[in-house]
Amino acid sequence: MDSTQLHVAIFSSPGMGHLIPVLVLGNQLATHHNIKITILTITTNSSSPEIEFLKKKKNIEIIHVPSVDISHLIDSNTKVLTQLRLMVREALPGIRSVIASMNHRLDALIVDIFGTQILPIAQEFNIAKYVFHTTSAWALALFIYLQVLDQKTEGEYVDLKQPLEIPGCKALRPDDVVDPMMDRSDQQYHEYLKLTIEYTCFDGILINTWEDLEGETIKALRSNEKLQQGLKVPLPIYPIGPLRRTVEITERDEVIQWLDKQNYESILFVSFGSGGALSSQQMIELAWGLELSQQKFVWVVRPPSDGDPDNAYLKSNGSDTRGTFEYLPEGFLTRTKDMGLVVPMWANQVEILSHSSVGGFMSHCGWNSTVESLTNGVPMIAWPLHAEQKMNAAMLTEELGVAIRPAVLPTKKMVKREEIQGMVRILMDTKEGKSIREKAKKLKISAENALSEGGSSYNSMCELVKDIRTR
Ligand code: UDP
Repeated sequence: MDSTQLHVAIFSSPGMGHLIPVLVLGNQLATHHNIKITILTITTNSSSPEIEFLKKKKNIEIIHVPSVDISHLIDSNTKVLTQLRLMVREALPGIRSVIASMNHRLDALIVDIFGTQILPIAQEFNIAKYVFHTTSAWALALFIYLQVLDQKTEGEYVDLKQPLEIPGCKALRPDDVVDPMMDRSDQQYHEYLKLTIEYTCFDGILINTWEDLEGETIKALRSNEKLQQGLKVPLPIYPIGPLRRTVEITERDEVIQWLDKQNYESILFVSFGSGGALSSQQMIELAWGLELSQQKFVWVVRPPSDGDPDNAYLKSNGSDTRGTFEYLPEGFLTRTKDMGLVVPMWANQVEILSHSSVGGFMSHCGWNSTVESLTNGVPMIAWPLHAEQKMNAAMLTEELGVAIRPAVLPTKKMVKREEIQGMVRILMDTKEGKSIREKAKKLKISAENALSEGGSSYNSMCELVKDIRTR
């Protein structure tokens, strides 16, 4: 490392959905800006293809901070956000000692949404500090405005009769608020509020989105006075997305080989993220819906969860590929053997979405999955489960017109097989589906433009690097 080379650490909180965008950001900064990157993670899963890929790169080091046991601090009602905050809090001494023992001084520390408690360590070592907000600009706006909403709203947000007005954004239906806002008496809500205060102490916020996708909201984040009230001080906003995963393909796996044999845009890909789980009954209904639709599919199946689906997230392990098919209707695999591929637990999602045989994605609308679908021009069936996914589903259907969604909220009511069958047919085989697909393809081009030299996200990333250098 020469003395002029910048050194940036990026912290990822536990969970593959958090780690993946951090790895991709690190790779971009190392590859295109020649920055030495240290990734700090307390995730227990070390077998992601990205990790293996990045370990071989010269400018990148991945450090696993010792994992922590929080079992004595939680009970069965402790929500996922509270658990994530506790994990990071407990890991702080480990994180501090890793930073203190680094051979090369850090020029900046970037933390993801749940890593903001590291702030005092960045202050102690006098390092520039940024938050990487891995979801949409819309979710960021809501998040920042929460301080104001908290003051002026009586009762529960979900009981409001009117949509929530967030400056510069589409109004948000009370049903679609993020999970931590569903119950104001839960500790998770208070942790979320604390997070929003911690954000205001950083030097800037990175978002995995792009100007053409969320221009109005980005503009409001930068200049709307009411929204800025939530931030207290104006913070630079860096829309640097879409972050694109590049995994080295060493061999074409079974799924890709199967896709190679299928017709152009004929396959529906079904997956609910790194930890999304359906109830046992919903899973059976989904299987029947797919079978009745007669649409060819690839389905990543995870064991159902009949408790709080939220809690399935932290228990998930992306590398676990034990067979999980016992939960499917009897005879399903035999009856669908020529029309579908059922993959246990984990698939190479980006490779699948970029395959020309894939024409639709039934997704839980995690932001990474959303971005991956859009950057491949794949239209979606939006099936939100937790976190901010209902907001993402609303944006995809009502604002961007690149998805359809069930009439009921899948977290509240069962989506029946006939409705699933109908949605699949609409997306894959109608004029409406075709028009949705065309819109998704336009967004693919818009994403490419944002990332190309001189594009909005390209420029934003350069500004970020310049800011780090100046500080
Ligand atoms: N992912 C994958 N294979 C799977 C499931 C998930 O590669 O079988 C990746 C997916 O491509 C995305 C991330 O895991 O990059 C999931 O992030 P997202 O924000 O969509 O949802 P989360 O898992 O955090 O709910």
